[in-house]
Amino acid sequence: MKRNLIVLAAVLAAPIAFAAWPEKPVTLVVPFAAGGPTDKVARDLAEVLRKGLNNQTVIIENVGGAGGTLGAGKVAKASPDGYTLLLHHIGMATAPALYRTLPYKTLEDFEYVGMVNEVPMTLIGRSTLPANNFAELRKWIDANKGKINLANAGLGAASHLCGLLFQQSVAVDMTTVPYKGTAPAMTDLLGGQVDLMCDQTTNTTQQIESGKVKAYGVTTSKRLTTPALAKLPTLDEAGLKGFNVSIWHGIYAPKGTPKAVLDHINAALRSALKDADFIKRQEALGAVVITDERVGGAAHKKFVEAEIAKWGPAIKAAGQYAD
Ligand code: ASP
Repeated sequence: MKRNLIVLAAVLAAPIAFAAWPEKPVTLVVPFAAGGPTDKVARDLAEVLRKGLNNQTVIIENVGGAGGTLGAGKVAKASPDGYTLLLHHIGMATAPALYRTLPYKTLEDFEYVGMVNEVPMTLIGRSTLPANNFAELRKWIDANKGKINLANAGLGAASHLCGLLFQQSVAVDMTTVPYKGTAPAMTDLLGGQVDLMCDQTTNTTQQIESGKVKAYGVTTSKRLTTPALAKLPTLDEAGLKGFNVSIWHGIYAPKGTPKAVLDHINAALRSALKDADFIKRQEALGAVVITDERVGGAAHKKFVEAEIAKWGPAIKAAGQYAD
């Protein structure tokens, strides 16, 4: 009898404990450098996410390096209590094909919480490049084979994937220069130390608008509507037939995080994605907030599985691996 009462008390206490969650700040790991595209999404999101998390602060922790795989590995090993989350992008789906060994299992070590946004990319160059449009860039590339530097945020980054497809499309190999994120890469592009970069509009829109970098095209199949980017041709239109890359972000928790906690985070995410200011800020940077079923964990995971199947063969064909 006494034992039954103890069990009953434990069952009754469980939902109460989860209802109080979170009781302290929640850490959102960004697997890239501060000030870059993923970091910007995370910081904007953190502001609104906290409203659904008992108004607890959402602390951003930047764990850059190895194309996002270090930060993802850190979250995979974190305590599954919902206090450590990961905001990651397409690298979650491309890394399995790029790395012989990863510090986590993509589909087994995480709870998929839901997706956040989709972000187009732009091909940009240092302001001192002589080429002013894509046709001129193509001629410049052909005339400078063997001398061109292409910045990226490491193997597995969006800039790496886009750069890989770009080099394949123009059939010219470039020297890739990896950074811990495209924020430091952008600093070097602005300083003229590197020539080209393919980066998300969340990091490039303002630089394009102010003329600090040259923009040659957008990577999506349709032109963008953001005023600063609407004049840019798609790379497909500019001559790279079929070129189409779009980046997406999602939230992950360590495997084994209790369902009640995951539901709480997901509810906070769903209301954050309906926040008018958040939507406006994302749209101003060319990003589109997810509104379909992928804001839920099951559809998010299904989407990542489809992305792994989509990009894996192309990456393997390019023969790029890291140990
Ligand atoms: N998302 C990376 C960053 O925030 C850039 C990339 O993936 O290319 O720096």
